[in-house]
Amino acid sequence: MRPKVYITRRIPEPGISLIEESCDVTLHPYDEPPAHEEIVNRIRDKDALLCLLSDRIDKEIIDAGTNLKVISTFSVGFEHIDVAEATRRGIYIGYTPGILTEATADLAFSLLLGVARRITEADRFLRGNRWRTAFSPSLLLGTSVWGSTLGIIGLGRIGKAVARRAKGFSMKVLYTKRTPLSREEELNLGVVYRPLEVLLEQSDFVSLHTPLNDETRHLINEARLRLMKPDAILINTARGPVVDETALVRALKGKWIAGAGLDVFEKEPIGPAHPLLHLDSVVLLPHLGSATMQARSKMAEVAASNLLAVLRGKAPPCWLNPEVENVRPLSRTRML
Ligand code: NAP
Repeated sequence: MRPKVYITRRIPEPGISLIEESCDVTLHPYDEPPAHEEIVNRIRDKDALLCLLSDRIDKEIIDAGTNLKVISTFSVGFEHIDVAEATRRGIYIGYTPGILTEATADLAFSLLLGVARRITEADRFLRGNRWRTAFSPSLLLGTSVWGSTLGIIGLGRIGKAVARRAKGFSMKVLYTKRTPLSREEELNLGVVYRPLEVLLEQSDFVSLHTPLNDETRHLINEARLRLMKPDAILINTARGPVVDETALVRALKGKWIAGAGLDVFEKEPIGPAHPLLHLDSVVLLPHLGSATMQARSKMAEVAASNLLAVLRGKAPPCWLNPEVENVRPLSRTRML
């Protein structure tokens, strides 16, 4: 019998066709995510689930999926999955680390440059037919990136890729993480450790690259925003809730900081009345970190490979919960 798979969105090729070669696929064919109740109903007879970060895969879904052997997420973040419950139930979890690192680092750097040099604001100015003088010495002055200080919060795969880009701009790179790098790694990457509060005080740009979890939720709060320099710029391509958005709006309006570049928000999508939409000092993107054709296609391939590996009784190439093998050995997930 062919395994039954539920896929919660049309992901780029070759993702779905790889799975369809050997499995019966039920696809949620719309851009809008399926309702939670729909996933609960669809999952009842499925052996595998391929989901996105906007699908909340909680205990109710895991309980309903009595045949479920693998959850493969089309993302590196996994805060939307109840990993502990899935592991307890012997469900393997695959994710897509590494593949989207460079694309996300490119986007973080685009936001940094975009806010510093007021790119989108200038574009709106020109399109709004407000460009009257050929060259104006003080028109839309930005702030210098070259030679400035960048503070990276969360120096993992993406944080390090941003640090490498910063070196091309002769930036001094400070970083913080719970376990500092070895001295040798610091020297190779050209980065200097600082405790979080000191990093915030010393940086001209602060870029966030931590996962979202209980420890990092509202890591950037009012008190920490107040530590930043008044001409500093905050970049968030990690997850929206890492920043207290209400405090950020206050910080921008009150000019405690100069600007922000945001790819992620506390609640996505943001509504038309969101206060950030009225501020010129921000560049806002609709969660595009990994949105290159190359990265998304590779993510789809890896997400499919993770799912198929488990159904073949093999270890998924990108495996989030190896301890699950103690609950259900791979020999008992094999259907292909
Ligand atoms: P990663 O390699 O796991 O790096 C995460 C880093 O955060 C590690 O250096 C970790 O070091 C640090 N960290 C964890 N908790 C921390 C804390 N409380 N304080 C300070 N640092 C902390 O992950 P990645 O691949 O770089 O991805 C990072 C995040 O980016 C993902 O989790 C995802 O949410 C987000 N992301 C967003 C997009 C997008 O579309 N915008 C795309 C890809 C990824 P320690 O463990 O030593 O603290």
